[in-house]
Amino acid sequence: MSKRIDIRGVIYNSILPLRFIENKNTHAIWKCKCLKCHKAVYVSYINIVTGNTKSCASCGQRKLSIKEAKEIYKKKQNNISVIALAKEYNVERSTIYRTLKNMKMQKK
Ligand SMILES: [Zn+2]
Repeated sequence: MSKRIDIRGVIYNSILPLRFIENKNTHAIWKCKCLKCHKAVYVSYINIVTGNTKSCASCGQRKLSIKEAKEIYKKKQNNISVIALAKEYNVERSTIYRTLKNMKMQKK
């Protein structure tokens, strides 16, 4: 097991790590505070520092408008990566994947 890195009090996006909870399948789980809604949220170290998790799940799920969803679908067809799209529209990658899936279903 590698040495645990103390990230307590270091703000990453809207995540403030409060205390280390446990190691789960080699992932260090931290109790954090979402700075957008002040709710407690449990996030793994890797998701915190990579910015994969930027806030709690409900704050992170910014809804995309239909117009934005169409734009994203078009851009993906033009080989714009999901990572770039998530950055551009300021949403989680999972939101982009979900949007693309929904758009695909509508096209059929
Ligand atoms: Zn939140």
